[in-house]
Amino acid sequence: MAEPAKSSAVVVVVGGGVAGAFVAKSLQSHAQVVLIEPKDYLEIPYGELRSKVEPLFAERTLIKHTDYLTDVRIINTCATGITEKEVLTEDGGSVTYDYLVIATGHVDSATRIRDERLEEFKQDNQKIESSRLQINSGSRLLEFVGPKASKKALDWLVSKKVDVLLNETVEVTSLEASSGTYTISSGEKITADCHFVCVGKRIGSGWLSHSFLKESLDDKGRLQVDKNLRVRGSQIVFAAGDITDVPEIKQGYLAQAHAMVIAKNIKLLINGSAENKLATYTANSSAPALVSLGRKGGVAQLPCFTVSGWLPAFIKSRDLFIGKVRKEIGLKA
Ligand SMILES: Cc1cc2nc3c(=O)[nH]c(=O)nc-3n(C[C@H](O)[C@H](O)[C@H](O)COP(=O)(O)OP(=O)(O)OC[C@H]3O[C@@H](n4cnc5c(N)ncnc54)[C@H](O)[C@@H]3O)c2cc1C
Repeated sequence: MAEPAKSSAVVVVVGGGVAGAFVAKSLQSHAQVVLIEPKDYLEIPYGELRSKVEPLFAERTLIKHTDYLTDVRIINTCATGITEKEVLTEDGGSVTYDYLVIATGHVDSATRIRDERLEEFKQDNQKIESSRLQINSGSRLLEFVGPKASKKALDWLVSKKVDVLLNETVEVTSLEASSGTYTISSGEKITADCHFVCVGKRIGSGWLSHSFLKESLDDKGRLQVDKNLRVRGSQIVFAAGDITDVPEIKQGYLAQAHAMVIAKNIKLLINGSAENKLATYTANSSAPALVSLGRKGGVAQLPCFTVSGWLPAFIKSRDLFIGKVRKEIGLKA
């Protein structure tokens, strides 16, 4: 049977992280899709830390949007605001939409050009020395998983001769960074050749705070969504990924699941389906979490138990799911 003709409806996707990438990919042959994203590449964040120790790994984790979005208009800029009909951009432009998908999980300060990002990983790699110190403001590591998984990760780091300072914070000013001396909250001074900031990034909803959606932001800056993943109060604006208030751990594979529900719903709406036919999303409150500890180790928090060692390493640590995501987006693993 012949494929239905592509609709003239315009779907604007703001944010080309995991969530936005999968929405745009799934809809590109069904509607006129526009992606607004400052970077010319998708970075799969799961590979970020390994790319610092193995810069060649980044060749697979940084994917040019043009490699998989062959039928999408890509605008490399930041969205700065929205009206009920248009997205406004930092270069003074505007893009009209019929449906809007907001997927601006976190503010990303990485360079906007893929080749420059590859170069950054090479430079980071040269800075990494053999002795390591980790500073953590909380009383345990990995606060997004349970205490048992935290303890297993701490034991692993200590066994690798990493000094871990808990309940400490550090102000990293450029002055201190250039002198190589850092003052931690207890007043102690620490010297280091380089530092890496691994604290969570800011939620990417600042650009909505003066828009008609400002009342849909919760107190953490996340967008409140309904069971169809539409932003509360709107019939045509959806939200996917880490920006949403869905009560579940923030993970890329869940962002992908949001993307699939949204793509399905937009196709249904374009085809005139009734509201009660829309797909629904159920929060995955016991979603497993896997943390890689090098290529041969890992910690897994599963619904009933926590495990460390070869099993999580086998599931995640060898490839960090990079090949899986690449295949799902239509590329060679
Ligand atoms: C080190 C690390 C390891 C992880 N490992 C795993 C793992 O193994 N498995 C897993 O499932 N999850 C993992 N996660 C979590 C996962 O990466 C996130 O849940 C996922 O990336 C969320 O995707 P997103 O598209 O919602 O947001 P993001 O990845 O934050 O993408 C948001 C995009 O929006 C863009 N953007 C922001 N503001 C604007 C704006 N104003 N205009 C236009 N564009 C904008 C940004 O440039 C960015 O590209 C890991 C995260 C990290 C940091």
